[in-house]
Amino acid sequence: MKNKAETYTVKGVSVSPGIAIGPAYIIGQHGVPVPEYALKEDEIEKELKRLQNAISKTQRQLTQLKQKAEGMATGSEDIILLLDAYKGMLAGSRLIRGTEEMIRNDRVNAEFALQRQIAAIKASFAEMDDPYLAARADDVGEVGSRLIRHLLQQHYNPFADVEPGSIVIADEVTPADAALMNPHDIPGFATVLGGAESHAAVMARALGMASVAGMPDLMHNIQNGDTVILDGREGLLIARPDSATLQNYKQELARKVREDRKLMGLADKPSITTDGTVITLQANLELPRDLDMALEVGAAGVGLLRTEFMFMNRPSLPDEDEQYEALKKIVQQLDGKPLTVRTLDVGGEKLATAFGESLGESVNPALGLRAIRIGLREPKLLETQLAAIVRAAAHGPVRILIPMVSSVGQIRQVREHLMQVERRLHRRGVKMPSHLPPLGAMIEIPSAALSADALARVCDFFAIGSNDLTQYTLAIDRGDDRVAELYDPYHPAVLRLIQFTAAAGWRANIPVSLCGEIAGDRRATALLLGLGLRELSMGALRLPAVKQEIRNMGMQKASRFAERIMSCSEDADIHDLIRKGIEEYEEPAKVVRRKS
Ligand code: PEP
Ligand code: MG
Repeated sequence: MKNKAETYTVKGVSVSPGIAIGPAYIIGQHGVPVPEYALKEDEIEKELKRLQNAISKTQRQLTQLKQKAEGMATGSEDIILLLDAYKGMLAGSRLIRGTEEMIRNDRVNAEFALQRQIAAIKASFAEMDDPYLAARADDVGEVGSRLIRHLLQQHYNPFADVEPGSIVIADEVTPADAALMNPHDIPGFATVLGGAESHAAVMARALGMASVAGMPDLMHNIQNGDTVILDGREGLLIARPDSATLQNYKQELARKVREDRKLMGLADKPSITTDGTVITLQANLELPRDLDMALEVGAAGVGLLRTEFMFMNRPSLPDEDEQYEALKKIVQQLDGKPLTVRTLDVGGEKLATAFGESLGESVNPALGLRAIRIGLREPKLLETQLAAIVRAAAHGPVRILIPMVSSVGQIRQVREHLMQVERRLHRRGVKMPSHLPPLGAMIEIPSAALSADALARVCDFFAIGSNDLTQYTLAIDRGDDRVAELYDPYHPAVLRLIQFTAAAGWRANIPVSLCGEIAGDRRATALLLGLGLRELSMGALRLPAVKQEIRNMGMQKASRFAERIMSCSEDADIHDLIRKGIEEYEEPAKVVRRKS
């Protein structure tokens, strides 16, 4: 640990832009309430297995933390030794043996047994009055509470007691964690692990929280309550800043608030280029609570509803009625504006606790049982969701979007399920829309993009998922900060796939939108329009700036800009052109004035 008063500055991976200032709240250093309950004889084996699962998860997390520390230039030796010691405690130690015995003999739940063991070990070390052993007692506490957190996964909100205005500091933040954070109370979070394009990152951006990841020695240099500045744009964290730095950042924060307020003035203005091309700007929703902001910024609808929120932080799966009610509420709030509902996209780094351990683990999760692959493997799950969506479509315009499509056959299969659902709903006599909702594919796997012509014959629309398209085209794990620098949605190969998909949609006369994170990057707007896109869907907070770009740009200029970029074979040249923007491209000869 650095000197308690010394400023600590660290550079990580920029995850979500924006500045946040507040006291540090370190996850894991606060007491966790642990339930106690008795087990029946036949529940003991299951409980021991649950403990084993928590041990495996903790082991994996410690390995990742160690790899992270090994990547540090200096000062990592102590951290590595400590992490090794923690790992050692997970295999046959007094802590684990004692806990297992207590589960067997006293028939109590694992977290309670663990808590008892930690207390007993700490008490016996304390009796010996030795500073070395006192430090080991802290280590036992640290490992034990990591295990307890994994065991409590479904029942415990680690952010419930965060003092409003605090910056959360954690080893890692999962999408389910991010869903539990209230952005009004938590302006930002910083983590040891995690990449810029993970789903937790997407959520942080949607919620307007500043976030920085990939800082190996973070936990060892900050204390609870330290003043922290998070600079999400630069990927910087400054703890215990000097007063001049703090003042500068406070001014920058105030300037940003003023700028955002000004952009909000565009909410009622049309999204139209200087030469009269209308561009549809919609919002992505991670959580229903994002809808208010989407309507406030004047989104034309919801271009991507990620339905994972219905499956997170709960022990069981939602039934058809529960899903229908949640969707109906959104449709009604949209009041005639369209809603695109994506079917469940879990697996990979997006885990839903409702599935428990039933999905098993893939060696290579991003390439494993994920999204529609699960839906087609578990038709009841897919059909329940389709039924809820079809019923919600009776209340307003709804489209169904299928994630991770890799072949034409998958869309055909989904359509069969959809028709089966329609017949069943008819028999039940429930309220139905006059037509089945349009069925579309996410284009986010290279095979889908390269088959876009064939897919366009069986799909009613496309939504390009540039986040996964980048991950799978470049073979870069979007959630791994160690390869974050190689993750590049502006890579010529990714852009070609986007262009090819847009053209295929245009030839087949079906709508194509783009709903990955670059849709909300104002520097990409001219390029995306120039590549042929007329619909973009993004985190609501990004929409005003993108609209401003559109209102200041002519389509001919945008096309020339895109042509120039598509002639580059090196990513560095593309980045250079994007940085310069479209200013140097010629104005069109004739300008049609828009009305407002
Ligand atoms: C994408 O992959 O671009 C996308 C929009 O989906 P998600 O980020 O939810 O995987
Ligand atoms: Mg995706």
